[in-house]
Order: sequence, then C-alpha cells, then structure tokens
Amino acid sequence: MKILVANLGSTSLKWRLFDFSNGQERMLHKGGYERVSDYPKAIDDCLGELTRGGHISGEKDLAAVGFKTVVARGVSGCVRLTEEVVKAMEAFNPIAPAHNPPYITGIRLFAQRMPSTPLVGLFETAFYQWAPEAGVRYAVPQAWYEAGVRRWGFHGASHKFIAERSAELLGRKDVATRARQLYVDGGTSPVQDPPLRVISCHLGGSSSITGILNGVAVGNSLGLSPQSGLPHNNRVGDLDSFAIPFVMRTLGLTLEEAERQLCKESGLKGISGVSNDIRDIQAAAAAGNARASLALDVFVHSARHWIGAYLAELNGADALVFTAGIGENRAELRAPICAGLDQLGIQLDPAANAALRATEGVISSPGSRVRVLVIPTNEELVVARETRRLLEKGGC
Ligand code: AMP
Repeated sequence: MKILVANLGSTSLKWRLFDFSNGQERMLHKGGYERVSDYPKAIDDCLGELTRGGHISGEKDLAAVGFKTVVARGVSGCVRLTEEVVKAMEAFNPIAPAHNPPYITGIRLFAQRMPSTPLVGLFETAFYQWAPEAGVRYAVPQAWYEAGVRRWGFHGASHKFIAERSAELLGRKDVATRARQLYVDGGTSPVQDPPLRVISCHLGGSSSITGILNGVAVGNSLGLSPQSGLPHNNRVGDLDSFAIPFVMRTLGLTLEEAERQLCKESGLKGISGVSNDIRDIQAAAAAGNARASLALDVFVHSARHWIGAYLAELNGADALVFTAGIGENRAELRAPICAGLDQLGIQLDPAANAALRATEGVISSPGSRVRVLVIPTNEELVVARETRRLLEKGGC
C-alpha cells in the first residue's frame, strides 16, 4: 500500500511517499518545490516525478494522499477530507490564517486532479483529545468556549512521534504501544509502573512544548491558535489579550493590520528586527546586535517557562526531548535552555550536546536524573501510519 504525504505551504509543495507493503514501513521518495506559483502544475510535476522515478506505476498506485491538516471547527483526529471537512477548516481560517488557507487550496486541487483517490487529514489537534479539561479551558464566557475559544494544541503529529520514539529509546515498549495505539483506543492499552513522563520540545520555525504521560499528551504550549506559546519565527507567541485593543486604540491599527503584524512581523523577527531564521539571528547576536541577543534570550526564557509548567504537571520528568529544526541542530540554544536545572534533575553533557546534530542521541550527563535526548521528528510518517489505519478500517 503506497501513501503520499503532502505538506502544503502558501508557495511550497513538499512530499514523502511511503510503502506499507509486505508488513514493512518504507519511505520510497521525498521531494518538493519552493516558490510555487502554479499549484496545479506542481501537483502534476510531483506525480510525474514519482512515476518517472519508478516509485509508482501511475497515480492509481496511490492508496491515498495524507495531509497534516491543522484545525477545523468540530473535526479532529484522522478523517477523510470531504468537502464538508474542508468547509469546517475554512470556518477556522481566522484561527490559523497562515496554515489553513494553503491547505484548503491544495486539498481542493488534489481532489480535482485525483477525484478517485482518498484524501485524508490527520489534524494537528488530534494528539490533545485526551488532555485534562482544566488544562484546555480558558476563563472566557461560556459562549466563547462554545464558539471554539479553548486551548487546542498543535504539532500533534510531531509530539506523537516523540511520544512513541522516546518510549522505545527508554526501553518502554508498553508505553510506545500505548502511544502508537492512541487514535485507535484512546490510550487504554496497558502500561506498567512507574509512569513514563516525557517533555517534548519541538523548536523550529514554529515551536511548541508538550507534556506526555505514558504516551498521551497532557497539554501543549500552543493554545487556541498556532500564534501562541513560545515566540515563533515571525508569529507572536503568548500575548496578553488586552494588547490588541490597546494597540488598535493607541497606534490606530485596524484589526486586519494588527492581525497581520501578529502573524508576520512578530516573534523572533519582531524582537530582533533581523530575520525570522535563528541562524541569521545568532550571527547578528554574535556580531553585537543587542536586539538579536534579546530575541534569543526571550526564546530561551519562554522554552524554560513551558518546560517548568510540564515538570510541575508531570511531577518531574524521565526524559526531555529536543526536536525540529532548532531542537535538532542548535546545541547553542539547547545549552541555555537546560542551564542551571540540576536541582530539577537536568544536567547536560556539554561535549555530547555540542557534538550532536540532526541525529538521534543522548546529550545529558551520565548522572542526570532526566535523560535529555535529541530525536529527529518524523511527522509525515505519523500521518502516513494513521492514513493507512483509516483505509484499513474502511474509513474511506
Ligand atoms: P523547522 O521549522 O523545523 O524547519 O525549523 C526552522 C528553524 O530551525 C530555523 O530557525 C533554522 O535556523 C533552524 N534550522 C533548521 N535547520 C537547520 C540546520 N540544519 N542547522 C541549523 N539550524 C537549522
């Protein structure tokens, strides 16, 4: 069974092709295009590349196309992307203005191009379906809550991958199985004592931290929208809700302009004034740019804040995991995030930390109570696995 996972940006199309034949799980191909101006052509080119490369004999060879969809009104989990589901995504465009619209456009184009191939979405909110209610509720009027104003949590595919893989690396097959089965049985497969407590730090262009107990998320630093939690590349992160009416009144911004600035001119770019890429910001900081240094300090401060939140919620941790572009590659940021936490059982091995880049491994010192790990994430694999499961249970 071959499943294509398509990652849709406003001007990019990236993909990975998985094959689940003969009980195996193999990635056959990965590729993508940047600066896409003609999306239908990009889809054609992708299918052409896969066919010419001999990875598929034609598009009929694809059992489904899976998407890492973000958020929709009244829909979560792994579902067939019918027009009704796409409309439910559209209804939540204001919550994910940078993410939902390109997905909606791309999904509709895939549906036109491949009308008989099932299109499946694994929503980023799915991993948080079992988070405790007290942790997802904002103190807003009931009508706001009923309209959808609550903590949804995102990066679900990535944190779910970390839940499974960290449990495997720590020798907890029982917990890995629970995490793997989560969308099937809601986390009821048996686990032994002691509980496994993992804090997963997905640090990249978009960042979030989640607490995971026995393979099941207890919460995520992203709340109602992917504009919350830690500061992102150019999106704001946590902000007091009264800041928006305040700047509208005092700076004379329209709601649309305030929204644009929160999504495009804020985050690390907003503080540093340099770039939305941490590499440029680090270079500027090293050259003495004070705003660039401050952006890095704010990022580190915020990461520690959320790690602290989950240390309290989980009553400590067995593992602290770093993943995604920054988490996997930037030892210079992992070090200050973990600094001075020895009383909480976290002690980095500086040499191991400095040496580890984009590969799996342990970066804590042998005496550290909490194992600090780097695990490259694989969100597309999680999407492909869940898509396959939906097909097998006849959900398409
Ligand atoms: P992501 O959204 O996971 O692709 O992460 C993007 C962020 O991670 C950017 O700020 C990059 O500077 C950083 N990043 C991604 N890849 C690398 C790399 N190979 N080396 C250093 N930093 C990287």
